[in-house]
Amino acid sequence: MFENLNERLERSFQILKGQGKITEINVAETLKDVRRALLDADVNFNIAKSFTNTVKEKALGQNVLTALKPNQLMVKIVHDELAELMGSTQVDINLQGKPAVILIAGLQGSGKTTFSGKLANLLKTKRSKNPLLVACDVYRPAAIDQLKVLGEQIGVPVFADIDSKNPVKIAQDAIKQAKANGNDLVIVDTAGRLAIDEEMMKEIEAVKKAIEPSEILFVVDSMTGQDAVNTAKEFNDRLDFDGVVLTKLDGDTRGGAALSIRSIVNKPIKFVGTGEKMEALDVFHPSRMADRILG
Ligand code: GDP
Repeated sequence: MFENLNERLERSFQILKGQGKITEINVAETLKDVRRALLDADVNFNIAKSFTNTVKEKALGQNVLTALKPNQLMVKIVHDELAELMGSTQVDINLQGKPAVILIAGLQGSGKTTFSGKLANLLKTKRSKNPLLVACDVYRPAAIDQLKVLGEQIGVPVFADIDSKNPVKIAQDAIKQAKANGNDLVIVDTAGRLAIDEEMMKEIEAVKKAIEPSEILFVVDSMTGQDAVNTAKEFNDRLDFDGVVLTKLDGDTRGGAALSIRSIVNKPIKFVGTGEKMEALDVFHPSRMADRILG
């Protein structure tokens, strides 16, 4: 599919042969290759540009007479810098509160409902939580049914009220029920639209205010490339979320959105979705994502 960065650099570093250090002149072509690789991976143009400058600073003056060939050294510098930018340490989610409340936000089709189920399943099986899933999409009855089907699959109860058009009340009622039934975790799946609109933002802001979640996760489809960044920014401006979930990484996207989103909203990517099944959820590994972006 794409030529990977190592292959590109192998070519452009032919000129470096016989020279001891990476210098401004011999690295120029290489940096173009790095930038092209990032753009191919769907990294935002400005971010690719500033990233390349950072890499240049790091690379200049580095001695290439080491065990690594110049292209390998350059790939290592790029890889390490990418991983660091995307967050070198993993960040957990906040499960404080009785019950802990997690709010899930994102556009329609991003994978919110699927992720809600996956997260409930993960926290139930790995952290011995007793979750309640909440269907707060008052516009699409199919979304409620979908969550119920997932809940049944993973053995987690689902709170829904098909007669209500008030997501704030649904979420509040769900928390009451969780308290009564001894659920120590409530995961609230909210309504999304195909594009950002004011009504949706107001609605989710109202839900946030009413239920004071310990964690707000923003779900975004990694296949949406550049759009993912704008969406992330708008949601973050309104909700000040705590972390990002990048879905559909089982597709053939290189996942450059991870770098762009991290650079622009400066919030950690916490999970990646890797399939439609309830088990297809991984915690985010910056180093693995760097490998993927570089191909
Ligand atoms: P929502 O509208 O945001 O709630 O999105 P859904 O959870 O309904 O997901 C939309 C579609 O994407 C569904 O067909 C899901 O099965 C699919 N989907 C969600 N997450 C993933 C993922 O990580 N990988 C793949 N391949 N498909 C996913």
